[in-house]
Amino acid sequence: MKEVRTRFAPSPTGYLHIGGLRTALYGYLYAKKEGGKFILRLEDTDTSRYVEDSVSLIYNTLKDSGVIYAEGPDVGGNYGPYVQSQRKDIYKKYAELLVERGGAYYCFCDEERIASLKDANGVSRYDKHCLSLTKEEIQANIAAGKPYVIRQNIPLTGSSSYTDLVYGEITVENKDMEDGILLKSDGMPTYNFANVVDDHLMAISHVIRGTEYLSSTPKYNHMYDCFGWERPVYIHLPPIMKDEHQKLSKRNGDASYQDLVDKGYIKEAIINYIALLGWSPKSNQEKFSLQELEEKFSLEGISKSPSIFDPVKLGWLSGEYIKDMAEEDYFNRALPFLKKSKAYGKGYDEKKLLLLVKTRIETLAEIPAKLDFLQEFGEFDNALYTHKKMKTDESVAKAVLPEIIRVIQAIPEEEYTFERIHDDIMRLPEALAMKNGQVLWPMRVALSGKETTPGGAFELADILGKEESLKRLNFSLNRL
Ligand code: GLU
Repeated sequence: MKEVRTRFAPSPTGYLHIGGLRTALYGYLYAKKEGGKFILRLEDTDTSRYVEDSVSLIYNTLKDSGVIYAEGPDVGGNYGPYVQSQRKDIYKKYAELLVERGGAYYCFCDEERIASLKDANGVSRYDKHCLSLTKEEIQANIAAGKPYVIRQNIPLTGSSSYTDLVYGEITVENKDMEDGILLKSDGMPTYNFANVVDDHLMAISHVIRGTEYLSSTPKYNHMYDCFGWERPVYIHLPPIMKDEHQKLSKRNGDASYQDLVDKGYIKEAIINYIALLGWSPKSNQEKFSLQELEEKFSLEGISKSPSIFDPVKLGWLSGEYIKDMAEEDYFNRALPFLKKSKAYGKGYDEKKLLLLVKTRIETLAEIPAKLDFLQEFGEFDNALYTHKKMKTDESVAKAVLPEIIRVIQAIPEEEYTFERIHDDIMRLPEALAMKNGQVLWPMRVALSGKETTPGGAFELADILGKEESLKRLNFSLNRL
């Protein structure tokens, strides 16, 4: 059987959108599953859209997210160059071959003539005017240095069909397809030509790309057929939507992979989530490592209908990854975010701070806000002591805080740990004939001055340390 070879062919326009990354991911997953190869090709022939730095953005995003290509501009391979602007000679050669075979022709029409072909709606459609030029006329024009393009010669009658693996049979009437430009006057190919030549020469077996190419694919098939090349298998992917009406896009201000990473989403969660935007596994499983995706991914699971990007679901998944993450890994990833917290560098145990919030965040960017309270202690409303369900209020606090202070005071500095604080404080409710909440609620409020905190009274007392805890408890008691 033919080796499975898939490719991702982005244009370096400055932004690798989520839809692009999904296309890359599916190509990668399918190649992996089939023991084939996934390759990267840069489609940079439209120089007007070229954005500096976007090439490294593409490399970095793919590598960082684990979508590893076996061949590509920066890693090499047997089918290079993998950058279209370096393949000009190849396109020229094949454009000429296509002309020879009747699938294309030279066109010398100037802009003025093209403009004159506009219909009532302002749409101009080329009229095959230059198709009738003789070989001699063409030679003479070229010798005279007349600028030209090479156009595809599409039959005027009949129709063209192919079967897309997702959308099924697609048929387009030949009369509805234009004789589009394949090679521009500067010798650069258009996408419409380069994709065919490259996919063939790079031995691509499965073309995976967005639905915007679904209806132009019959044009490409005309070329495959005319060259006598085998057509690839086509898999067009439905768009990813922001909501029911709008596509996810840079123009709409929607996040790229890098934006999401910067926002503190866990990258494995991003990839996991993107995999599910248009593909469904056979089971109800939702959390997939990249390796599991490599094993479970299947083309049959790709859906026809557009999927909506749901930040809430992504957040949930990211939170699950954080909860399940090994501590060391979590510390390394979370530290840059912890550094933005007011509590950072104030003598607290960094690991304890991070563990305090580990099960309480969905993105790492939530860390500073969750921990800032540690540095914001000061005046607060004593009404916070009132909690109906726990049957506690200011007067309970006034009675219990001195006892709590006494217990904390009595723990020797070197034995001051979470467990010890817990065990000693937990003797109080019985001793004072109180409910747990009547001790713990006032203790937490007195330590934090906040209605809610990540972590309870013991965790706070532990993180704050003995001295700071006593300082705060006394401060709060004196205000009662
Ligand atoms: N350069 C095209 C794009 O960025 C690639 C389409 C394809 O995969 O064939 O949309």
